[in-house]
Amino acid sequence: MVVEVSAKIALLPGDGIGPEVMAEAIKVLNVVADRFGHVLEVEEKLVGGAALDRVNSPLPDETLASCRDADAILLGAVGGPKWDDPERSIRPEQGLLRLRTELGLFANLRPVRVHPAMVGVVPLRPDIVEGADLLVVRELTGGIYFGARGRREHASGVQAFDTMTYSTGEIERIARVAGRLAGQRSGRLTSVDKANILESSRLWRSTVSRVMRDEFPEVQLDHVLVDAAAMYLIQRPTCFDVLVTSNLFGDILTDEASVLAGSMGLLPSASLGSDGPGLYEPVHGSAPDIAGRGIANPIGMIASAALMCRWSLKWTAAADCIEAAVACVLEDGARMADIAESGKPLFSTAEMGTKIAEAAAQLEVDTEEHQETPCVPT
Ligand code: NAD
Repeated sequence: MVVEVSAKIALLPGDGIGPEVMAEAIKVLNVVADRFGHVLEVEEKLVGGAALDRVNSPLPDETLASCRDADAILLGAVGGPKWDDPERSIRPEQGLLRLRTELGLFANLRPVRVHPAMVGVVPLRPDIVEGADLLVVRELTGGIYFGARGRREHASGVQAFDTMTYSTGEIERIARVAGRLAGQRSGRLTSVDKANILESSRLWRSTVSRVMRDEFPEVQLDHVLVDAAAMYLIQRPTCFDVLVTSNLFGDILTDEASVLAGSMGLLPSASLGSDGPGLYEPVHGSAPDIAGRGIANPIGMIASAALMCRWSLKWTAAADCIEAAVACVLEDGARMADIAESGKPLFSTAEMGTKIAEAAAQLEVDTEEHQETPCVPT
């Protein structure tokens, strides 16, 4: 297996806790790069509110160019109350939506695993969450977040509208990603929609069924309505393996699924397209309520860096090492405010990053690169 020794990373810390957790991911990445003989070429750029304040654009041309030119992109988070005025025409989130569109990042992969050391932290009964290990495949560049929207005069006042549209092509390509991933895991796929009400969901359901029947006959497909899926996720999460769903439903269900892991601050994500760089970011937002207090959990960001190593850079030994270091530190009892457990020490953001970096430097791990299951969509 040929592994690129050096990699060019576009670094977009963004807003709120974004820069705080990003600093810890870089700390850990530097350790594994050093350990496994890789060279990281990092270019830091503005995005979101930070970019709006400086150059009046949430995605400056310079940032987009740097992302296009990179092997992978690491992003912290964007947004915050400073830019929340509903009357504002330009908002930080538009930078992220445009970046996803410009780079064709249509597949958002969100693994949710319940780490054994976190079972006592999760606000659900251990017998419900133990062994839960699922992967949500969320469509990322279509649906209601990208449909026509606006306001118009109405007899009873102003009327606002957003439109959920999906084409067969958009559904087919995300169904193929999910089918491939389901085939690499347990062979089970759950498609989540609202086909009892929404026309876009009826097209979603028939298209996913056709793609699975014609192209992935070995995958066992079932369909669940989104309201029922929301209930089953916390009632019996172990019955799911790979889930595929639309942009809006995926956004909501993955926040809910983060409860299974113990905290939103633990979870990574990858956004991938047919080609070009992948974008890696934690599932959480900019958490303005805790920004600047040194208590943001950096594990979601660090785990996103591990996914980047595995899926975009093919640095599989480095990825394994980061994930093993995170597991080891949690098993050792290191906790933070969002995953506090009585009797266990509470770490700051920087202390947690340092502890994981130290574990990554010292842990005994297999240093051989290995063939990873090909997770990239195409
Ligand atoms: P959020 O994810 O920022 O925070 C939700 C809750 O989780 C908060 O109580 C926060 O303190 C906590 N939390 C989040 N990350 C944490 C971490 N790493 N460690 C410990 N606790 C953590 O969601 P929100 O409050 O709804 O949104 C805040 C801002 O973030 C908004 O402007 C929103 O638009 C933006 N946002 C951005 C992204 C992104 O950049 N991809 C995603 C979601 C929300």
